Amino acid sequence: MNAKELLDHLVAFPSVVGTPNGEIVGWVRGYLESNGATVTVLPGPEGDRANLFATIGPKDERGYILSGHMDVVSASEPTWTSDPFRLRAVGDRLFGRGASDMKGFLAAALAGLPAMAKMQLSRPIHFAFSYDEEAGCRGVPHMLQRLENLCAPPLGAIIGEPSSMVAIRGHKGKAAARIEIHGTTGHSSRPDKGLNAIHAMTAVMDATLKTVDALRNSALDPNFEPPYSTLQIGTITGGRSVNIIPDLCTLELEARAVPGVSPAVLLEPIKTTAEALENEGFRTAWEISSTYPALSLDADAPLARLLEELTGAPTLAAVSYGTEAGLYQAAGIDAIICGPGDISRAHRADEFIRLDELAACEQMILRLAKTLRH
Ligand SMILES: [Zn+2]
Repeated sequence: MNAKELLDHLVAFPSVVGTPNGEIVGWVRGYLESNGATVTVLPGPEGDRANLFATIGPKDERGYILSGHMDVVSASEPTWTSDPFRLRAVGDRLFGRGASDMKGFLAAALAGLPAMAKMQLSRPIHFAFSYDEEAGCRGVPHMLQRLENLCAPPLGAIIGEPSSMVAIRGHKGKAAARIEIHGTTGHSSRPDKGLNAIHAMTAVMDATLKTVDALRNSALDPNFEPPYSTLQIGTITGGRSVNIIPDLCTLELEARAVPGVSPAVLLEPIKTTAEALENEGFRTAWEISSTYPALSLDADAPLARLLEELTGAPTLAAVSYGTEAGLYQAAGIDAIICGPGDISRAHRADEFIRLDELAACEQMILRLAKTLRH
């Protein structure tokens, strides 16, 4: 099967984030095994979804990881021109959910496998395919925990998020939190008798905005836009009626941190403010719903130099979106982003990838394999 045919199969699995993924895992496993790879399926704690790790080449040598996620965001945009889970070719464009983000990379990597299997590789290439990346990289930590049992310490990981095949060395880290404030309801004519959860949440919002202001002047990294860490409140809900004292207010916010700054630490003053409301009789709940660290790979790192060679272009310092690369780096594995397609086409109707982009990615992967031949 060529990359287009593989992509056709992959897109047909509606592997939407947060749902069971046994079907796509089973199919990819079958393809990998029938082409000579050793496959381990790694079920996550959810019980109905799994990461997949496969190896071609000598298992005991140190090799390279090709990393991608099998989940996609939902295809609920009403403006899709055709069924998002049926690959549709128009000219050199292939439309479908996940075509760019990031089943195109998976297809290109899998398309290269038969040729890799024929090469006498002196070092292995691993396929590390994760689940629930789109929910804030929830799946891949379970694979990274078990990596030392799966392979020799890898020399590097290529994360195939859409980057127009430019190798990218950095992104911000992220932590998202959900805060609940529980008060006491009552009739709005007697606010003195209740505990207004929305009023209480304004303290949390104040603390957030103060932190936002402080961050503008701290830890500047000119590789990013904006060049500082940020916080943003994304949702707030609360109240049932204007004449009832609201007894619940919920707020979600996220921190995006430049390398060297922990995104979870940025949220600490907000957490402290929320918890202080307990002294006034409120009950509060705080949950970190997702988090991953920043990526920062040195321009002189061997992996960066290798990717320059493989792509024929200089590496780029940073992008604004986050990936699993930060988690690989935090696990002690050099990581870099390089994949086909454009991030601007992701998470929107009529997502597509071009045939020449798939071909360029497959070529890059085969060039990598050739550097590992005996
Ligand atoms: Zn992605």
